[in-house]
Amino acid sequence: MIFLDNASTTKINEQVLETMINSYKEDFYNPSAIYKNGVNLSTKINQARNNIIKYLGGDFQDNLIFTSGATEANNLAILGLLKNNKKKLIFGSSEHPSIYNVAIDLKNKGYNVEFVKILPSGEIDLADFQKKVDADTAFISIMHICNETGVINDIKGLVKIAKSINKDVIFHSDGVQAVGKIQVNLKDLGVDLYTLSGHKIGAAKGIGALFVKNGINIKPILLGGGQENNLRSGTENVPAIMGFEKACELAIKNQKENYIKVSILYNKIIDNLKNSNLQYKINGDETSKYIISISFNNLRAETILHMFEQQDILIGNGSACSSKKSGNRILREMGVDKSWEEGSIRISLSASNSEEDINQFNNALIEIIREYKKNTNKR
Ligand code: PMP
Repeated sequence: MIFLDNASTTKINEQVLETMINSYKEDFYNPSAIYKNGVNLSTKINQARNNIIKYLGGDFQDNLIFTSGATEANNLAILGLLKNNKKKLIFGSSEHPSIYNVAIDLKNKGYNVEFVKILPSGEIDLADFQKKVDADTAFISIMHICNETGVINDIKGLVKIAKSINKDVIFHSDGVQAVGKIQVNLKDLGVDLYTLSGHKIGAAKGIGALFVKNGINIKPILLGGGQENNLRSGTENVPAIMGFEKACELAIKNQKENYIKVSILYNKIIDNLKNSNLQYKINGDETSKYIISISFNNLRAETILHMFEQQDILIGNGSACSSKKSGNRILREMGVDKSWEEGSIRISLSASNSEEDINQFNNALIEIIREYKKNTNKR
């Protein structure tokens, strides 16, 4: 089986698995217990926290809250800072549903919510951004890399613009598809809050974190025993945290090397398309090499996906989290015509994919699209 849906999730890394198995065996105590075994675990969690902050270029005074994944971290970033409903909250139009749907819910509840447009290139529309950020803006959330298209937003530039208009604005970025894929230095980016997810970088599902810069006061959305410095109650998932720390270490240490490897695979896919006589469009201009969104007109992504599946190749049709909803909101925002939008597939790569995987994918792609076109023309 060839897995080319790595933006939806990744296979667990062997070293991460080993770390987790050891932790499951050894670390079964409750980290809140006041006997030594518990206290030691609490120290271990804090070490993992500090190490992840360090790998991401944060400061030792910054905080990181472990959560059940990026969905919770994104909810926490928005709801944990929510004050009154008069101040403006700004979101990108290409945000993942774990941001977008929270924003829509707040808008429906009467909050002052605005969405910044995205350009046909997939990037944030700077003119619209500058127009919307003002002295009344309390919070901004713009994703680092889009999970549907791989488009990279210039977060550092956006933070600079936002803070020059309003120094008190709090800037959050969803970094789920960026960590381990491109260089991420949180101090350099200047963000106040940054979301991470474990299962996109070889760790377990159900673990993630919200980075919180020193001085940003966030309120918990889960109340209970007061774990995570009173910011996220619930007994810590120690093995998942240990595995997450390991996954961050490996992903960040190997980021450059992996990028070079994945770029070769990416180029192979693009060259194959260029040399074919298929009619296609690549969505997004400045993209991470890990995600390729390709549209074919008058075809249905679901059918293409199942034709690939018959050849034991797994690809995606946009975001797995929103695949049940009809159409692709982000491509629509980019102005992709409906006849192309419906035939959009997402190939997402990992450094563990081989060149042979891509050769097989490339051959299958040409064959599948030709056959599908031939069959639709017959009707
Ligand atoms: N944000 C982005 C950009 C994502 O790609 C995903 C996963 N599809 C999430 C958030 C949600 O992550 P999790 O599965 O850890 O909740």
